[in-house]
Amino acid sequence: MTKGKRKFETAVIHHGYSSENHSDSLAPPLYQTSTFTFDSAEQGARRFAGEEEGYIYSRLSNPTVNMLEERLALLERGEKALAFSSGMAAVSAVLLTLTKASDHIVCSQGVYGCTFGLLQMMEEKYNITHDFSNMSTREEIESVIQPNTACIYVETPINPTMKLIDLSLIVEVAKERGIPVIVDNTFCSPYLQNPLEIGCDIVVHSATKYIGGHGDVIAGILVGKTDRMIDIQSTTQKDIGGVISPFDAWLLLRGLKTLPIRMDRHCENAEVIFAYLKSHPLVEQVYYPGDPDSEDYSIMKAQMRKAGGLISFEIKGGKETAQQFMNSLKLIKIAVSLGDAESLIQHPATMTHAVVPSEEREKMGISDRLLRLSVGLEATDDIINDLDRAFSTVLTMQEC
Ligand SMILES: *Cc1c(COP(=O)(O)O)cnc(C)c1O
Repeated sequence: MTKGKRKFETAVIHHGYSSENHSDSLAPPLYQTSTFTFDSAEQGARRFAGEEEGYIYSRLSNPTVNMLEERLALLERGEKALAFSSGMAAVSAVLLTLTKASDHIVCSQGVYGCTFGLLQMMEEKYNITHDFSNMSTREEIESVIQPNTACIYVETPINPTMKLIDLSLIVEVAKERGIPVIVDNTFCSPYLQNPLEIGCDIVVHSATKYIGGHGDVIAGILVGKTDRMIDIQSTTQKDIGGVISPFDAWLLLRGLKTLPIRMDRHCENAEVIFAYLKSHPLVEQVYYPGDPDSEDYSIMKAQMRKAGGLISFEIKGGKETAQQFMNSLKLIKIAVSLGDAESLIQHPATMTHAVVPSEEREKMGISDRLLRLSVGLEATDDIINDLDRAFSTVLTMQEC
């Protein structure tokens, strides 16, 4: 059986590591070192000249980091992966590599708050402009593409509204014009969606979320074709330097082993919580890709294996009700981030998307009563009990 043919559940545990090269250590060793020694001055010179394979310095490459990158390249069905010190280090590396001053970026209407901030900074400092688009039809995408469009940047599901973008449609339009497509695949993890298989060019992950899965690492990943990845590695990654630490790479290798099991449970739990929220009288709207009544349901079926573990919902009332509700929760923790074992809830308008001006927020569909719940791995009965108590508290307060 060749390595590439191994099933996902096996690859998350074994791919990219062989114990015989590492003193038969079952667990991948942590190479916690900044630099590597050369046998001789000549060997150092050969390594720098690229005439001899081998490690030089951990900002350029490191064995523990390489194991992680090899594993993720396979899991995302790409050729090569690069690991970064944060999701934003990965996002900025790819956007800064693919653009030059006065270029243009087409972006999904709705992106991670700091990606929005980065696009603004690129416009202010380098005149790299951008347009947001709902991207729901070919016309909508085509209408914002310009002669200087350097890339199309897409999030799906979109944070926090859970809207989906049809990746095959984006690829169709982009391929006709030779424009690379970048997809932030954080909400799905490589287990639920593989944009490279659909024809997208580069996948971005905040590995802080499902890939790490335990709320103890900040990290980012890029996956794509070898030549593109080498281009990013030898420019923005090397010279801006947002590389991952060997220890964080080691933690991700550890977290990855249970990714499929965790994702299955996140998805199962989310289905149960969705049904509960959907029928709750204090809930105005629920946004969840697995909602059969959602207009994006067919896109979910076409490009995702399951609907994921995130649910956003609008509570009846306003910002204060949303905050009261959060303050009444005990088991579910108030925190940004997602994809951890713990259920987490946050208020996008004042937290993850507070940097987005209110006018833009409205266009993105982020109201003051919207809450985003990352469904954890706890028993659904306990999660529902917690939600139930918080809803009752809010109701009592409203009646007073
Ligand atoms: C968290 C997140 C990021 C940023 O990742 P960091 O690891 O926090 O830098 C980017 N995109 C999405 C969708 C995220 O959820």
